[in-house]
Amino acid sequence: MDGKQYVTEVLDKVKKRNAGEKEFIDAITEVLNSLVPVFDKNPKFIENGLLERIVEPERQIMFRVPWIDDKGNVQVNRGFRIQFNSAIGPYKGGLRFHPSVNASIIKFLGFEQIFKNSLTGLPIGGGKGGSDFDPKGKSDGEIMRFCQSFMAELCKHIGSDIDVPAGDIGVGGREIGYMYGYYKKLTGLNTQGVLTGKGLTYGGSLGRTEATGYGLVYFTEEMLKDNGESFSGKTVVISGSGNVAIYATEKATELGAKVVALSDSNGYVYDENGIDLDVVKEIKEVKRGRIKEYLNYVKNATYVEGCRNIWNVKCDIALPCATQGEINKEDAEKLVKNGVICVSEGANMPTTLEGIDLLLENKVMFGPAKAANAGGVACSALEMSQNSMRLSWSKEEVDEKLKTIMKNIYLNASLAAKEYGKQGNIVVGANISGFLKVADAMMAQGIV
Ligand code: GLU
Repeated sequence: MDGKQYVTEVLDKVKKRNAGEKEFIDAITEVLNSLVPVFDKNPKFIENGLLERIVEPERQIMFRVPWIDDKGNVQVNRGFRIQFNSAIGPYKGGLRFHPSVNASIIKFLGFEQIFKNSLTGLPIGGGKGGSDFDPKGKSDGEIMRFCQSFMAELCKHIGSDIDVPAGDIGVGGREIGYMYGYYKKLTGLNTQGVLTGKGLTYGGSLGRTEATGYGLVYFTEEMLKDNGESFSGKTVVISGSGNVAIYATEKATELGAKVVALSDSNGYVYDENGIDLDVVKEIKEVKRGRIKEYLNYVKNATYVEGCRNIWNVKCDIALPCATQGEINKEDAEKLVKNGVICVSEGANMPTTLEGIDLLLENKVMFGPAKAANAGGVACSALEMSQNSMRLSWSKEEVDEKLKTIMKNIYLNASLAAKEYGKQGNIVVGANISGFLKVADAMMAQGIV
């Protein structure tokens, strides 16, 4: 059997077994199709059933999360934790609290996380979790009670050598704090390495908050440099206005770019003078408000309803940092028409498969999420190292390590692309480079 036949067979099984789970099937399709030449070169992977094993999570946990709202009403949400692959280290990946969360979303995120974590070069396996809880408009007390109820079940399944959750959409420092406090109360253990993204006073790492956004820009700068370009003097559009978008804006601006637009799920703001980040931090990090409020501070900025419209804004570089599926084929067409030279993903799978194909056909440099946004989880792994040593590194030390990691991810992905005959295709390069390390570890550990 050749690589193509093998991949087609496994894909058919995945589609049957996970019918209706579009995000999960899309993520698997993208990865598996780019691995065909790997199986042609290494038939032993086929004999070992490597793909059949890697597409099936090692463990999936689904649970009831009951909590009481401020009016005294009982609310019930659904909690998830997918422990996808532990070949190279303890399961590692964030928790997402968002009404769109379901099994398909958590499984696609967990699957992507396996390869992303492998690309960092650090010993972390792939996992993901979350809930369909909507944090929007909830009081601090409601958030705390929800986090405590969520942890009451999750604590049975995690540990610093088992599974180490962190944040994702809807889960930041506040939520991690509440969950860590409750974990400690329930278990009596002060094992700081059980969660990452913690506050600096109880085991958090300097630089973790900025790491995904900064890492995205370090990775993208490397890709631009390789193609004779840089951020300096470029016009940039960044979707989203959460943690990733804010720190990508900060670093891109520092490197001489002008970020002219940011968005949230309702619409986007355009500021031709370059986004004033102090204003955005005040709105999002202090007031937890909406991006529209930017107009209350910056008079000549404009606001447009509908977050998708942000891709109409003319730019040289686009950094999608909001959520999955936010750039489809039509959005990609708009970007190309307006002369975009580079699209690099801060969110997880923000570009659809058709969108990616269109960008690649038009020779747009493309940084896929699992490589470009790996800085967050890489820094989480550095937080785990510091927790194990009971020491903490300076911000400069962490940043230096992050820079080296992002450079190496780009280098390894571009080398793998070249080796497998797809020079310049970082999507294929990242999939192959991430996969090979996991495959090697799975082969060494036998059929488990
Ligand atoms: N949620 C982030 C991601 O998608 C970070 C995960 C972590 O730090 O464990 O990679």
